[in-house]
Amino acid sequence: MMADPRVSINQLPASAIDLQTRLILMSTIASREIRLASRPNGIPTAANFTLARTELGPPQDGEALVRNLFMSVDPYMRGRMNAGKSYVPPFELGKPLDGGAVGEVIESHAKEFKPGDAVTSNFGWREYFVAGPKQLHPVSREIQPLSVYLGALGMTGMTAWAGLNLVEVKAGDVIFISGAAGAVGNVAGQLAKLRGCRVIGSAGSAEKVAFLREECGFDDAFNYKAGPVPEQLNLHAPDGIDVYFDNVGGETLEAALSALRMHGRIIACGGISGYNAEKPRPGPSNLFNFITKRLTMKGLIVSDWLDRQAGFEKEVGGYFKAGKLKHKETVVKGMDQAVGAFIGLFQGQNIGKMVVELA
Ligand code: NDP
Repeated sequence: MMADPRVSINQLPASAIDLQTRLILMSTIASREIRLASRPNGIPTAANFTLARTELGPPQDGEALVRNLFMSVDPYMRGRMNAGKSYVPPFELGKPLDGGAVGEVIESHAKEFKPGDAVTSNFGWREYFVAGPKQLHPVSREIQPLSVYLGALGMTGMTAWAGLNLVEVKAGDVIFISGAAGAVGNVAGQLAKLRGCRVIGSAGSAEKVAFLREECGFDDAFNYKAGPVPEQLNLHAPDGIDVYFDNVGGETLEAALSALRMHGRIIACGGISGYNAEKPRPGPSNLFNFITKRLTMKGLIVSDWLDRQAGFEKEVGGYFKAGKLKHKETVVKGMDQAVGAFIGLFQGQNIGKMVVELA
């Protein structure tokens, strides 16, 4: 269990503080948090963020004090750094960022929680926070590492699961997954294998290709940086594909449109190749494939699936406990490294889920 973060007044000379100040200090919780200092143009830099110290009031009735153990950095956060309205509100300048986190209850005035309980929340990018039960999701400490609740058994794993369900991926389908060595991609591929599909992935290095083939059980994989994607996809799927799980957009989406067979389906999950674009990019030149091959493309937002979270936890948690699903992560240590970990997503620095360890 973690130490109580509150300032110890016994460490201060009594003469230096009056009684009122002593009472305030007794209930003050010192914490650090990352704030958005300015909106990035193109690829974010460290100058867009500040690491700030703050003090929290104590938990009130019905609330708990939580110390974060792991926080998530995710590509979707890049969109929230822009000013424009999206499907989620933009981050506010000068305010702490938020995002997925796993923490431990330090003190609880909520009947639902006790000290030592592990919880997930959306209060990432900070060391401590105070919240009520509606903002906390209890998770079992029996599953380790707890960071798995940010990856295979968390938001990104659920995105993979939801995507496969969205277009009813079934045994016998040939599925191509881009961004395959990342958090969503590797789980999507492993789940598709469990469904009896032939699975092909693309990723940005030879090491990632080996990870997909040797550790995740993909049937085939290629490095999209090693040659033109259409040629490589054609080589690895000469008879075409039934499903494309799109995490990157751009030229890979265009290649997949050409490779899809009649009645093919596309899971529109992400488009990371364009997240840092400074002006709109042209769309695929071959959209006519939708007509000739009667293709379907369905957009996915994982939060639409929250009412099915119990089903995800049962099915995918079951695979994990049975040793049928691998959780892979890249762990960066320390709050002061969180911004670098986030920027690293756009440089391909992660294999599996990128997480920041705070404890
Ligand atoms: P990842 O773990 O896959 O991390 C990002 C990876 O993207 C990098 O490691 C890198 O791998 C790859 N990448 C970075 N830049 C490019 C580029 N220009 N072209 C191609 N690949 C690139 O992230 P997630 O698994 O968390 O997310 C994957 C996708 O899914 C993202 O687009 C994300 O926005 C989306 N998403 C969508 C959700 C939804 O509800 N719709 C929910 C969660 C995620 P490499 O070395 O292979 O280039």
